[in-house]
Amino acid sequence: MEGLFHEDLAALSDLDEQSLLESLSQRFKQDHIYTYIGDILVAINPFKYLPLYVKEVSERYKYHEKSKLPPHIFAVADRAYQSMMGRLATGPRNQCIVISGESGAGKTESTKLLLRQIMELCRANSQLEQQILQVNPLLEAFGNAQTVMNDNSSRFGKYIQLRFHNSSVIGAKINEYLLEKSRVVHQDEGERNFHIFYCMLAGISPEDKDMYGLLDPTQYRWVHLRKWGEKYSEVCNAMDMVGFQEQEKVDMMTILAGILSLGNIMFEPTETDVLRVTGKSMGWLKATAGQFGVQEEELLRSLTCTLSVTRGEAIRRLHNQQQAEDARDSIAKVAYGRVFGWIVSKVNELLAPNVDFDVELNEIGILDIFGFENFAVNRFEQLCINLANEQLQYFFNHHIFLMEQNEYKEEGIEWETISFKDNKPILVKRHNLLPPLITYSSTLIPPHHLQDFVDKLNSKFKSSPHYEVVRSHSPLFTVVHYAGKVQYNGGGFLEMNRDTIPASIRDLFINSVTPLLSVLFAATISRTGTLMPRKAKVGIHSLAVLMEKMFVASPHFVRCIKPNGNKLPDQVDNKRLRYNGLLETIRIRRDGFSWRPSFKEFAQRCVLLNIYEHCSNIVSHYGRSSRLFFKYWHQEELSRLLERMGKAALVIQKSEGSLSLN
Ligand code: ATP
Ligand code: MG
Repeated sequence: MEGLFHEDLAALSDLDEQSLLESLSQRFKQDHIYTYIGDILVAINPFKYLPLYVKEVSERYKYHEKSKLPPHIFAVADRAYQSMMGRLATGPRNQCIVISGESGAGKTESTKLLLRQIMELCRANSQLEQQILQVNPLLEAFGNAQTVMNDNSSRFGKYIQLRFHNSSVIGAKINEYLLEKSRVVHQDEGERNFHIFYCMLAGISPEDKDMYGLLDPTQYRWVHLRKWGEKYSEVCNAMDMVGFQEQEKVDMMTILAGILSLGNIMFEPTETDVLRVTGKSMGWLKATAGQFGVQEEELLRSLTCTLSVTRGEAIRRLHNQQQAEDARDSIAKVAYGRVFGWIVSKVNELLAPNVDFDVELNEIGILDIFGFENFAVNRFEQLCINLANEQLQYFFNHHIFLMEQNEYKEEGIEWETISFKDNKPILVKRHNLLPPLITYSSTLIPPHHLQDFVDKLNSKFKSSPHYEVVRSHSPLFTVVHYAGKVQYNGGGFLEMNRDTIPASIRDLFINSVTPLLSVLFAATISRTGTLMPRKAKVGIHSLAVLMEKMFVASPHFVRCIKPNGNKLPDQVDNKRLRYNGLLETIRIRRDGFSWRPSFKEFAQRCVLLNIYEHCSNIVSHYGRSSRLFFKYWHQEELSRLLERMGKAALVIQKSEGSLSLN
């Protein structure tokens, strides 16, 4: 049995689904949470502390030989760093580490471990290192929240790019995607608002509490739990370390306090049908205006009516109760979203590399998005999140299956095609489903009946193999994702249609006496106001742009697996390990040639080995366009040769339709 529980599943000659599950679960039971499939790392979330990341382990994995040590997330960091330095085999110097897995699988924890180890590897100067490491707790406070799937769930996607000059990190840049802003005003059962609200309310000093005009947490509709006193000082600390100024912090917290007060403003109709805020809400209106630094009457006006200008004539339309509540919620969502966006751009400003433009920089990017989600009620946001995960799955498939097998075909290598679940049809051109579904549902005029909305979707998309009509009295429809079927609720789609921010609200904030607030609203908002669906489309588009960038970097894959749905240690549910495509991935890594440098690239490498002449002969023999095909472990073997032998000759033999190292 010993051999079966191997550290590298691709090295096993005989593997079926049963033995794969057995291997992974046996390893997991012995706390071996990491396993390789060739160069891909599989990580199973232990849901408990393991002494895997202590200083001594970190040291051991620096510049190590992959085959000499057990699989580890630090090994991925090492490989990415060495490749970026050009010390390992060939390929683009820019690296990207792509971490995938469902919500709660361990992506964000893996990201933090990778960052930490990369900082260790490049011996960053202590200030920049601290700044970079503090970005995560900061973004987590504002962008993560407790969900039923994960107590610390990322409610946004991020791509962290570390910028290097030679071997030193000299800066960093974050791209963020699709923050789930609706969480500010609405949380389903078992879910919470963003962490920062709880941290702030629990950890703030009495003086600051007064200054921001905050009351007891139980008073606020949008948060009502005491929690995490100690976290608040951590967040403030992180802001200091990254370089935020005192006034900026104060402004930010005041805006958050304003959002909480805003959430408590309720409306009621008067006898004349004009809307007014309830008696109890008068105090909240005053508090909100104070915290946002705006005039109380103006705030009230922008909540209770819309001002539009038609042919030079200003027309005032009074809101009904629903419209006033929507306006209130929109302001909260937009304000929060802008604070978050501002934090990211501030971080980027503070961590930008201080070098001339013509200095050549290399990059290691780490992609950590929100995992695939399937809740009791799935809304527009879940569709966007799941679309992003489809894109990521496509990126993985493309690299692991398509590119590799196409090259075999081009080079005439005998190869029995490995089939895989291709999710392209759901994403791109012609038969695609998700992008048009998002566009279509965000342009539909809200009908009176939700069922009308879903009927429209049904008639437009029912012929797609990935779309299923749901026979129900509720406005539901199903999308067949690569990771399973998800039922979406049309009701949740219409909410975003109401998510507009009228020009009067923009003007209100531009005139705020809180400098940060006026900057946030002056910045980029369009004249017609911001519509969330448009924003979602922008987010999805920018994710697609990022993927394109990632296509020209050397990828490293980490596949995180959540072993059980209860967030418990030492429990593994085999169904979850039967994760899509693991078996096919193992086959292609075992039988395939995952390292495929072009002759040119390989010859450059040989210059270092002083066997350039030898290689040039091969190049002229085989022509320029061809590549060499190597097993994944050959890369390491070549590096070892490079180190040990220096000038030694490398014998390259042609065997069985491929060239291999002996
Ligand atoms: P989401 O998509 O919801 O953001 P995620 O994949 O980022 O999920 P994480 O937040 O990284 O998931 O992990 C969820 C929890 O699992 C962590 O808060 C932590 O408690 C635990 N966990 C993850 N990785 C490890 C690890 N290597 N060791 C110990 N605990 C871990
Ligand atoms: Mg996460």
